[in-house]
Amino acid sequence: MPTASSILEDVDLDSLLDDYFYAEARALAINRLETSATRGVIELEGPPINDETDIVLGYVISRLVLAATDNQALINYVALSEAFRAETYLSSETDEDLVEIVNTLGVVNVKLKGNKFSMNFIDYVRAASKLREGNWKLSNRGVNKGIVELDRETLIRLMRNVIQQHLEELPKAPFEIKEKFEGTIEDLKSQVSKTFTERIGGLNTVVSDRQAEAMKELGRFDLSKAPPCFNLNLMDLQAGVNLAHPSRFFITTFLSSLNQDPEAVMRLFATAPDFKEAFTRYQVEHISGKTSGTQYSSPKCDTLVSSGVCPGPNALCRQIRHPLSYYRVMAESEKDNPVRMERILLAALDREEYPTKLLERNLEKIGDFDFIYDDKIDKRTLSDAKKVDSASKVSVNINHFQGRVYSVEIPKDERKIWITKATLNLTDGGTDYDCLPLTDWKIGLPIEEAQYKSKKIDLVVKPFDIIFDENETRRLFLVLDVLDES
Ligand code: SF4
Repeated sequence: MPTASSILEDVDLDSLLDDYFYAEARALAINRLETSATRGVIELEGPPINDETDIVLGYVISRLVLAATDNQALINYVALSEAFRAETYLSSETDEDLVEIVNTLGVVNVKLKGNKFSMNFIDYVRAASKLREGNWKLSNRGVNKGIVELDRETLIRLMRNVIQQHLEELPKAPFEIKEKFEGTIEDLKSQVSKTFTERIGGLNTVVSDRQAEAMKELGRFDLSKAPPCFNLNLMDLQAGVNLAHPSRFFITTFLSSLNQDPEAVMRLFATAPDFKEAFTRYQVEHISGKTSGTQYSSPKCDTLVSSGVCPGPNALCRQIRHPLSYYRVMAESEKDNPVRMERILLAALDREEYPTKLLERNLEKIGDFDFIYDDKIDKRTLSDAKKVDSASKVSVNINHFQGRVYSVEIPKDERKIWITKATLNLTDGGTDYDCLPLTDWKIGLPIEEAQYKSKKIDLVVKPFDIIFDENETRRLFLVLDVLDES
């Protein structure tokens, strides 16, 4: 905003980083990042406790420090916290001021008529690019002469998305920032990666005992298979955010559909600031069918998008229509090895009819195979990796990644096989190498992210000679694993 920008006039980077005069702004910057990274919310008192100029400068410094961390997951996480915070402020504005603020931000141009807001459909498509389902789809929103009409609530939700997207992109930080904040960045990174891993990967170790107990009760539920909508809402819940009703309904029905005990689900909500035991128990037991006799099913993606529960789809989300399908697809690696291999071959052969003979020939050629590889495998270029029969570590770019759902009927069996697959191409030294389709999306998601960010990724690959027909056998890589960047 221009008023905020004017605070930056005449401030140079050196003094911002070193001058005693800006010490408070620097402290607010770190505080902003720490609360955001550890709790998913930005806790910052406004004036008179903190000076407005310090808050604005603190924000700028926090962006610089964040850029210097070079950690996209953290950047996205803070972007979401900032966007939630901005949404709260936008909600408290009058309609007229809301229009002025939105237009000043310069991403979309909004007009107000009565209590309706409108914008050009091109602006809308750009702003809603991550909100692709249900009512967010342009076709479902209704376009009249190129104009899309929105109510106040929808506009504010859309702006949360615009702000989040904007904040997810950061220019490279000046060198001075890395130098000046080296210690802080390292602290922040380790603190953040610890909290982040705990939250995303193992919520049962998160901060308070009560939360840890609540998660433990979820027993066999595997968080690493859950879709972004579930993980993010759960993170908010764990961070003490009061979730809106659609989010609570979703968490309850999603867990109930996966046979989680209503009592355990109920205790999850005990971490919410507005927790009322009797009321929550009634709601959870009713929704999960314990008292009502009707088990409500988990909403579809369309519904979750239009009710604001979906934080935006990832690459796997784009192939499914229901969060439970996401959980099911992510369980691919739990299937028996022969079944996994058969599904990979089916996905590669991609025939309309079930290719019984071809499948048998390929399976016979491959023989017993398990997806485990030796820790001490060699690092090779892709061209060398293609010449050996064993697994290799490779560092590659992803040239192509495309998800698709494939289905085929099994003859004499009233059963259809559904496979959510991704075709991909690796590139190394300017040459492209074809791969067998990926069916394990725990590997597929980081690969797609590397392609999206045009970043190299370390993989474990093994080549296989696949028979496509009498005259065609091709040597393709099977991606066995994604290695940590470290
Ligand atoms: S697209 Fe569906 S599964 Fe993915 S985050 Fe959104 S609601 Fe969840």
